[in-house]
Amino acid sequence: MIDRIILIRNGTVVIGERVEQQDILIRGETIESIGDLPDVMPDEVFEARGLLVLPGAIDPHIHFNESNKGHRGVHDYLTGGRAAAFGGTTTVIDFGDQIHGQPLLSVLDVKREEARGRAVIDWNLHPIINHVTPEVLEEIPDVVAAGLPSIKCFMTFRSLTGESAVNMYSGKPGRIISDDDFLNLSGRLREAGGMLMVHAEDSAIIDRNALDSQEQGRTKAIDHARCRPPESEASAIRRIVEVAGQTDGRIYIVHLSSIDGLDQVIEARRRGQPVWAETCPHFLIFTEEKLKQDDGYKWLGSPPLRDEATQSALWSGLTEGHISVVATDDCAFSLASKTAGADNFDLCPEGMPGIEPRLTLLYSEGVARGRLSLPQMVNLLSTTPAELFGLAPKKGSLTPGSDADIVLFDPAVDWTMSQETLHMASDYTAYEGVKVTGKVSKVFSRGDLIVDGEDFLAEPGRGEFVACSPSA
Ligand SMILES: [Zn+2]
Repeated sequence: MIDRIILIRNGTVVIGERVEQQDILIRGETIESIGDLPDVMPDEVFEARGLLVLPGAIDPHIHFNESNKGHRGVHDYLTGGRAAAFGGTTTVIDFGDQIHGQPLLSVLDVKREEARGRAVIDWNLHPIINHVTPEVLEEIPDVVAAGLPSIKCFMTFRSLTGESAVNMYSGKPGRIISDDDFLNLSGRLREAGGMLMVHAEDSAIIDRNALDSQEQGRTKAIDHARCRPPESEASAIRRIVEVAGQTDGRIYIVHLSSIDGLDQVIEARRRGQPVWAETCPHFLIFTEEKLKQDDGYKWLGSPPLRDEATQSALWSGLTEGHISVVATDDCAFSLASKTAGADNFDLCPEGMPGIEPRLTLLYSEGVARGRLSLPQMVNLLSTTPAELFGLAPKKGSLTPGSDADIVLFDPAVDWTMSQETLHMASDYTAYEGVKVTGKVSKVFSRGDLIVDGEDFLAEPGRGEFVACSPSA
């Protein structure tokens, strides 16, 4: 088959630190050249004057086929992938739960099955380890070599009533692992070129609060937030940085949500420790005022939404480069599932649908309001995640030889986010009524036009597993 040649011309292209009007030539699945184009006749030409031309966004924190507290998530490789694509995301990194009694690498088989015939964009996954055994430590080099170099663990979600009991928060057996386990795992990962991803909230603080809160009948969404104060995040980050830091291993803090936690990250980075932090759009857009509403459960998740001062500190963290990635932590449930926890946070599945609005929110609230430059936004959404997780140079930047994952973004459109204007699969949206500037216009994934305005053109199953490389 002869490779199709596509020309995207006159767009405002973000290449590293430069923003300039350029033409881009795609041959087959790959960017062939930018700027000085060879003399060829394209099969198709896209006029991009007035549009921003960005590398496809990478979302390294999503949950497809998630189950939580007995509820089943509504985003999978097709429904979630489709919404991601409408939002300009062309690669997702999902999570795969360790299966007791099976090798860790079996998580890849599970996800391959979930993706088969359904994936519409490219994907990878982070294995989750809830139970560290000698066998699993032994297996780490093979897992990293198989293209899964980042492994996630939890410092919270204890099984409160015994090893095998269902955890009151996660709906799963306890997820927390010990400091010894963290130390061993971090050492193994460092040797293998991997990275430890950590959900950093201090269980000792939270569990006490949660028991008291339940006993006293304080069980609404805002009470859930009160049980998980900023100090619980800061204390956990301080500890993990210290413990895992003994090995000089790479540490990635997921969904950073607090000023105190950010301070811990900044200090560790100043000391030269290989520590990175991610935050999420919901922390940048919403405050805990949402949790105080009667329908506050729609925004319930861990860590919880915070106050306005925290919100501006997180924005500063992005501006100043202390926070490296913005990922969605998409965890999409139906309204009926969320409503099950309306009166008791123990019964509310955690998280909110958020896979789609990330790029637009970061543009609208970040770039258009002067908090971020365009190259900074691209770094947070594409380039840095690609580099950190081992997807570069195939993904994450507009570079000759890279995959032609390209977003055409119209910075001039004003619109309002709602259940009607977004494409996520939940029957409600946490982003109802959010007014934004800028909209994804077209999305290419490996040279295929998969989103064209309101049309979704991707063939289910076209999305591919893309291996991540270990760090040197
Ligand atoms: Zn998550």
